[in-house]
Parts: sequence; C-alpha cells; structure tokens
Amino acid sequence: METKEVFDKVASRYDIMNDIMSLGAHRYWKELLIDWLSPDKGMHVIDVAGGTGDVARRFLKRVKGNGKVTVCDPNDFMVEEGKKKRTYKNKIEWVVAPAEDLPFKENTFDAYLVSFGVRNFSNLKKSLSEAYRVLKPGGKFYCLEFSKAENETISSAYSAYSSIIPVMGKIIVGDEEPYKYLTKTISNFPSQENFKKIIEGSNFKKVNYRNIFNGIVAIHHATKIIDA
Ligand code: SAM
Repeated sequence: METKEVFDKVASRYDIMNDIMSLGAHRYWKELLIDWLSPDKGMHVIDVAGGTGDVARRFLKRVKGNGKVTVCDPNDFMVEEGKKKRTYKNKIEWVVAPAEDLPFKENTFDAYLVSFGVRNFSNLKKSLSEAYRVLKPGGKFYCLEFSKAENETISSAYSAYSSIIPVMGKIIVGDEEPYKYLTKTISNFPSQENFKKIIEGSNFKKVNYRNIFNGIVAIHHATKIIDA
C-alpha cells in the first residue's frame, strides 16, 4: 500500500484513531515536543507532515505573543480535514507539498517540527537536507517519532499491542491495511542512535534525543549552525 493511499483512507478518522491507538498518549508526547521547543514571541515554525495541524495548534496555544506556523503536508485530504477545524482557523498557513521538496526559500524558519511523519518520508536524506536548507542559521529541528524501547519486557509488550492495532483499524475505519502499513513503518524505522547519526550526516550540529515511555517514542533535536 502506498503512503498516499494510506492517508487518503484514514484522513477523516485520523484524529480519533490517534486518540484510540495511543490511548490519548499522543497528546502528552506532543506537549513534550512543544515544551522542548519552548515557543518564543515572533517565532515562525514549519510543521512538516503536519497532517490535520494538531501540533501547529499546540504551538499556537503556547507561543508567547505572536507566532506564525506553516503546516506542510503532501496529502490534500489530511490538509482539508485540518482546515475544517475551528481552533486557530485563520492562524495557520497550509501548504500541500512533500518534505523532500519544500516550496520555501532557504533560511525561512526558526524551527522545523515533524511529529509522527518522518518514517513516512520517501527519501529521508533529501528531506533532512531540505529541513536544513529552510531553517535560519541557528534554527532548530525537532522530530517526534516512534522509536525503540530500551527495556526488553516493554518492547515485547509494545509489539504485542502493535499487533492489535490493525484489528482496531478494521473495526473503526473499516480497513486494516493502513494500520498494517503504519506498524510496519514503525518497526522499520532506525533506532534512536542510528537516526541521530543520519541527522548528523545531514550537516546538523548538537544532535541529541530524549526517550519518552522508555523509548517507545523519542524526540530528536538538532541545530543548524553555519561554521564561521
Ligand atoms: N504530524 C501529524 C500528527 O502528529 O498528528 C500527522 C502525522 S501522520 C501519522 C503522517 C503524515 O505524514 C500524514 O499527514 C502524511 O500525509 C504525511 N506524509 C506522508 N508522506 C510524506 C512526505 N513525503 N512528506 C511530508 N509528509 C508526508
């Protein structure tokens, strides 16, 4: 199943499925992402793979003073779902485009956010080089993504839980295939340390990460530093 087809199918129930599958935990993880970003007055943020704009709204809720957010996602169904929501309706700029080819000038954004999107990128290296290009010097990269649990028991319990996600998809959305795809992309995604090395290979500096829930989820952080 193609990525586009997956999100075409889940778009209309995406937010409710997120709550059900993560038992509401995605809300807490996204708040931790915004905590780390610590949104400052006047900040212009790009939320790549922003889907229905959930992270963008959390940013707008917490930014001190005026902030600007651009949601960028290649799936027009996800973007249309996002546009229907009333909260911060006129405060989000929506752009339909993939992470591999961002239609923005270099040095545009103060921060680049990607939440549960990076594992869908068709070309990770190209996407990271685009992230680097559109960030201003000193700009920050933050990536929230499912990762690898450190503890064996937790990892096994999580695998068992993942195996029932397609069943939940079948019951709620009427199709298990998109959720099989989602669990497959989670298990195929590199470990925290390997992803850190990939980010470092894309010119970013000060790359580090935080594990959440024992590493089931991790936030990677990096900075665009131009050598003098
Ligand atoms: N960021 C949102 C969130 O955390 O709720 C949505 C995440 S959703 C799991 C993944 C998103 O990645 C979908 O909206 C999908 O359209 C988008 N996506 C898929 N391929 C992409 C690509 N090549 N570049 C950017 N986004 C992509």
